[in-house]
Amino acid sequence: MRDLPWRHTRDPWRILVAEFCCQQTQVGRAADVYGRFCDRFESPASCARAPLRDVLDVWRGLGYYRRAGYLHRAAGQIVDRHRGSVPEDLDSLLALPGVGAYTARAVLAFAFERDVAVVDTNVRRILSRAAANRSLSVAEAQHLADDIVSPGTGWRHNQALLDLGAMHCSAVPNCSGCPLRPACAWRRSGIEADPGAGPRGAGRQSAFVGSDRQGRGRILAAALDGPVRTAQLAGLSGWPDDPDRALRVANEMADEGLLEFGRGAFSAPRTVASERT
Ligand code: SF4
Repeated sequence: MRDLPWRHTRDPWRILVAEFCCQQTQVGRAADVYGRFCDRFESPASCARAPLRDVLDVWRGLGYYRRAGYLHRAAGQIVDRHRGSVPEDLDSLLALPGVGAYTARAVLAFAFERDVAVVDTNVRRILSRAAANRSLSVAEAQHLADDIVSPGTGWRHNQALLDLGAMHCSAVPNCSGCPLRPACAWRRSGIEADPGAGPRGAGRQSAFVGSDRQGRGRILAAALDGPVRTAQLAGLSGWPDDPDRALRVANEMADEGLLEFGRGAFSAPRTVASERT
C-alpha cells in the first residue's frame, strides 16, 4: 500500500482537504499542499474565518484555484450548517460546494470508514476489465462496486482499488504481479480488445503550456503579491500580444470570486467564507 499522508488520519476535515487537493492532480504534488493547508487551517472554522486570499496563497502552485475557492466556501457551510463538523451523510456532503459523488463517498469511506464504494475513472476501468470484461457505464460501475464492498472493509477496500489503479491497472495495464490477475475476467478470456480502453484515467489533462489555466495561475500569483493593474495583465499572464485574452481570463476569475476588481486593479479577495456562501 502506498504511504500517503492522508492515510494516517481519519479526521474528516483533513480527508476533505486531501480529496480537494487530489482532484486532477498527481498525489506527489497534492501531498505538499495538503500538509501546508492542514498546518495553516486545522479545522473548517479556521479556514472559514480566513480571508480567501490566505487560502489561495496556501494553494499556490497546485493550480485549479477554483478548488480552493470551493473548499473555502465549503468550510463556511460546514460552520454555518453543521456546527463546524464535516457532515457524515451523503446528501449533506453532496450539498457542499465543489463536492461531487466521488469526493462525498471518499469522505464517507476514508474518514468515517463507511462501507461505500468510491468510483472514479480508474476504478471503473478496473471493474470493466477484472469483473465484467466489457466497458461499464458510470452507473453500472457504481452499482457493481457497491455490491463488492464487504461489511467492515470500506476503508481498506477502496484504498486497495486506488493503489491497484495507480500501480497495475492503469491506462496501459501492468498485469505482471497484479493480485487480481488469476481472477481477472479480461485476462482469463484471452480476448485482445481492452474493455478498459473507454474510461480514461484521471491523469489525462489538456496541455498546460499556453492554456488559460497557465495564465490564470500567473495572474492569481501576481495578485497575491499585490494589486495588478489592467495594463499589467498581458505581460504577467505570459500573453504580451493578447491583452484581450488576459483581461477575459481575469474577468472570469473575478466572476468566480477568485479576484476582486477596484480602482483599476485586480486583487486577491479578502472576503471570509461567511460572506461567500
Ligand atoms: S490482471 Fe491486468 S487487466 Fe486485470 S485487473 Fe490486473 S492489471 Fe488490470
